[in-house]
Amino acid sequence: MSSSTHQHETDVFVVGGGPAGLAAAIACRDRGFRVILADPSVPPIDKTCGEGLMPDSLSALTALGISLDESRCFPFRGIRFLNRSRSVDASFPTGNGFGIRRTALHDILTQRALDAGVYLRWRACVRGLSSDGVNLDGQNIKSRWIVAADGQNSQVRRWAGLDTSPPAVRRFAFRKHYRLAPWTDCMEIHWGPTFQIYITPVAADEVCVVVISRDPHLRLDEALDSVPQVHDRVARAVPVTTERGAVSVTRRFRNVTKDNVALIGDASGSVDAITGEGLCLSFRQATALADALASENLQAYESAHRRAMRRPALMGQGMLLLDRSSWLRNRILSALTYEPSIFSGLLAVHVGASAHTR
Ligand SMILES: Cc1cc2nc3c(=O)[nH]c(=O)nc-3n(C[C@H](O)[C@H](O)[C@H](O)COP(=O)(O)OP(=O)(O)OC[C@H]3O[C@@H](n4cnc5c(N)ncnc54)[C@H](O)[C@@H]3O)c2cc1C
Repeated sequence: MSSSTHQHETDVFVVGGGPAGLAAAIACRDRGFRVILADPSVPPIDKTCGEGLMPDSLSALTALGISLDESRCFPFRGIRFLNRSRSVDASFPTGNGFGIRRTALHDILTQRALDAGVYLRWRACVRGLSSDGVNLDGQNIKSRWIVAADGQNSQVRRWAGLDTSPPAVRRFAFRKHYRLAPWTDCMEIHWGPTFQIYITPVAADEVCVVVISRDPHLRLDEALDSVPQVHDRVARAVPVTTERGAVSVTRRFRNVTKDNVALIGDASGSVDAITGEGLCLSFRQATALADALASENLQAYESAHRRAMRRPALMGQGMLLLDRSSWLRNRILSALTYEPSIFSGLLAVHVGASAHTR
């Protein structure tokens, strides 16, 4: 729905038009709610991301009425771990994952939201909460429910008094895309001494390369110097985007709802980026939240949110342990190389094939 006359009242107001906000808007609209979504940016919104969608993300997207076709993304069959001397990979137990440029994913979600009839307000910023809705650039919009999808530094979370979490683990990431035919049929994670570089094929002629570490000063080119397997390939390729940074936060909140406010996506807590599960979590949460709003039972969303976070959070902790201890990393990598079926089993759990959360 697009109209020159702005609406002043709605059932659901979604603050933030990233993947989580758009997913929530779609799911709520599909259940018959009137939905307004606002974001200060203009689509398609880009963001530093590994751009990998695991198979569980694809099924979560299907629940939102979205199926990806290979014209806008690139399939990969599993995950490969590598260090200087070892390499081990495993295929997903069910189907492929997909690499997709963040802007392409945003475009697909935006189009679906428009088709569903979500009222989209770009270049519009929520400035505060009011007794019966939100303050959108000085204008009061009445809303029965407020969905906070305003990202990891959520202001709505603070305004609603939900900003209570133990100290977060922060890591720092930098990303670039290269014009290069993918050399790999997997999403690759190269374990360096103090960082990981991960590679996602996103098109037949493009790969996304991300470095992530605890050091805010470690840039991609410097990290690549110590990973010759990747450096030698990308050194000859043309970068098609400039380097862009982001902070990856591991954090959980005691509650994700209060009164008529519900948090979703990174605003509601997040797992380390290396898990590749952030988007999937947002999509799952969107469906659970819309169901909870339809039954006027936010407690159901609290429970579903907690359940959905459990497995990715555990996997994230495991990855952070490997990041911290080179001794453990070497032991685990050699064990997985010696017995790849363990890696297959772990990957199956990681994508929820043997531990369904909903
Ligand atoms: C380095 C890195 C790599 C990652 N790799 C992957 C990966 O490979 N696979 C995966 O699944 N996940 C990955 N993730 C996680 C994933 O990117 C996030 O989980 C996802 O972006 C969360 O989306 P979101 O909509 O919650 O937040 P965001 O994308 O941050 O969107 C928040 C939106 O809210 C808007 N906003 C903020 N304040 C206001 C306001 N006051 N009013 C209105 N709007 C507002 C912002 O403009 C923004 O558009 C990665 C994350 C990082 C940091």
